[in-house]
Amino acid sequence: MALEDHPGSLVVVTNREPYIDEKTNQGIRRLQSAGGVVSALDPLLQRSGGAWVAWGSGSADRETAPRGIRMVPPNQPKYPLHRVFLSPEEIAGYYNRYSNQGLWPLSHMLIERAQFSREAFHLYRRVNQKFARRVAQMAPRNGSIFSHDYHLALFPRMIRELRPDVAVAHFWHIPWPPFTLFRLCPQHQEITRGLLGADILGFQTPQDVDNFLTAVERGLKIPVDRAQGIIQVGTHRVTVRDYPISVDITAIEQMVKTPRIQRWTEGIRKRALKHGVSLAISVDRADYTKGLLQRLEAIDKFFARYPEHHRRITFLQVVVPTRTEVREYRRLYDQFVDASARLNNKYGDAAWTPLIHIRRSIDRPRLMGLFRAAEYALVSSLFDGMNLVAKEFISAQIDNRGVLLLSDMAGAAQELGEAFHFNPLDPDEVAEQLHRAALTTSADRARRIESMREHIHHHTIYDWIAHIVEALDEVADTYAAR
Ligand code: UDP
Repeated sequence: MALEDHPGSLVVVTNREPYIDEKTNQGIRRLQSAGGVVSALDPLLQRSGGAWVAWGSGSADRETAPRGIRMVPPNQPKYPLHRVFLSPEEIAGYYNRYSNQGLWPLSHMLIERAQFSREAFHLYRRVNQKFARRVAQMAPRNGSIFSHDYHLALFPRMIRELRPDVAVAHFWHIPWPPFTLFRLCPQHQEITRGLLGADILGFQTPQDVDNFLTAVERGLKIPVDRAQGIIQVGTHRVTVRDYPISVDITAIEQMVKTPRIQRWTEGIRKRALKHGVSLAISVDRADYTKGLLQRLEAIDKFFARYPEHHRRITFLQVVVPTRTEVREYRRLYDQFVDASARLNNKYGDAAWTPLIHIRRSIDRPRLMGLFRAAEYALVSSLFDGMNLVAKEFISAQIDNRGVLLLSDMAGAAQELGEAFHFNPLDPDEVAEQLHRAALTTSADRARRIESMREHIHHHTIYDWIAHIVEALDEVADTYAAR
């Protein structure tokens, strides 16, 4: 049965809220989160009802949500956003420490950066419990819950205990590491067991599924049916599979065709042409998983080994500060800025800047216009759940002329086989691939882009939601029939 047949039955649960209210000197400012999940699930809830539960992180969030509920979208209220409020101590323990300094680096296989403590886990558990109690109070009978990510790993089991009548899908957006590594998390058993509370458990890639099943087998000694992706825990059955997340390619195509964005794209192309350069673009949060410093090393190698590309290519790096409350992130950002300056000093001259750093976040339509204007995109993640930038770049290439250079370590590499792939820790290989990409014919570029565009057209963000929600609906129907 489709979701549309159960109006109001879906509850989305995320750490980050879709609408944030911030206090400013001019009064309260309403912000809308920009991520792919929000832009796909928000219209769904607007259309078929339901509710969203998330951490109320905005400075004016309490004021605008009497009894913790804010009707959204603010101008045209359609569904309730239930805000879970956290104390500064909870934010530090649950969000900054356990989630972002523990699970995040470990899941991205960066062992030496991972820090765990029982105290942080205690706060992580407390916050997951808060989310579960809140959802338990408001979820409709036999409703469906769609919860997300590493911030809420304990939530599925908690909600199952409180509300055995609801069906739960949980999606893990980041990679799931091999068990030899994951066992370094002192609470690995609790984390794995927490997720097994879900009926449907989704990951980005088959590799992540495989690693998770191993964690269940070896960490919890629970047998798994690998062929079917099924785990039976007592009477409860968990279905585990990969649902690679994607983008709204049609919306991106329309976005880059609007007169405003066409003018923006044309302006960028003209400026590049005037300087006689092609643009190679990279867009990342300043996160150590994105391989920013390794990328600069590879660009250095590229210009050193292939001087014929001097004054021909400019690398446009949109690198936006993120998680600046964490020291490592601030340090990485400073290192990136210094290394960029060194590279420009080494190769640049009055007429040519090899590397341009944009440090502000760019709004979506312009970013898509920039993707269209660029001739190359360079995605150098050391490890990445999916990497939506890679899919967005392909989606914006409606002229079929760009080349995608993609790290083997991004989830997207498993789907985008026609990209130029490389190992992000091999600067020589990146340099060679850049050189190869620059030499490829326009026919070859068009063939590659067309094939990847076709793939994305058949695997959009809406397909991702539909597959998960359909699976969830089937479970909800069986619960309702009990
Ligand atoms: N993004 C944006 N403006 C910016 C930089 C990034 O809108 O200035 C968006 C980008 O288009 C993409 C998302 O942020 O949709 C980043 O997602 P991705 O999967 O590449 O990496 P994540 O940041 O989730 O690790």
